[in-house]
Amino acid sequence: MADDCLFCRIVRKEIPAKLVAEDEHSLAFRDINPQAPVHVLVIPKEHVPSLDQASDPAMLGRLSLMAAEIARREGINGDGYRTVVNTNSAAGQTVFHIHLHLLGGRAMHWPPG
Ligand code: 5GP
Ligand code: ZN
Repeated sequence: MADDCLFCRIVRKEIPAKLVAEDEHSLAFRDINPQAPVHVLVIPKEHVPSLDQASDPAMLGRLSLMAAEIARREGINGDGYRTVVNTNSAAGQTVFHIHLHLLGGRAMHWPPG
C-alpha cells in the first residue's frame, strides 16, 4: 500500500468509486472518464507501480481473468472488447498503480492511437 497512491486510496475506500467486482486480491471499478460505453479498470490490491515493475504471474493472470468475467457479465464478450495496460509515459500511463483497462460496447480501432 502506498499512502499517496490514488488507486491504493480507492482500495482502502478512502475515495469513492463505482465498484464492479472485488475479491481478496483484486478490485474493479468504472473509469471516471470513460472512453467506451464499458470502461472498467481492474487493479491488484497490492501496490505495483507498472507492468515494468510487475513480477507476479498470478497477479497479472488474475487481472485478465477478472476482466474477462466482467466482460461476460456486461454482455460485451460476444461482440468483443479490448484490454489495455499502458506502461510509462510514451504509452500515456498517468496513474502509477498497475491497472488493466477493459473497454467495450463499441467498435475498437487498430492501430490504437
Ligand atoms: P492510465 O492513463 O494511467 O492508463 O489510466 C488511468 C485511468 O484512471 C484514466 O483512464 C483515468 O480516467 C482514470 N482515473 C483517474 N483518476 C480516477 C479516479 O479518481 N477514479 C476513477 N474511477 N478513475 C480515475
Ligand atoms: Zn497504489
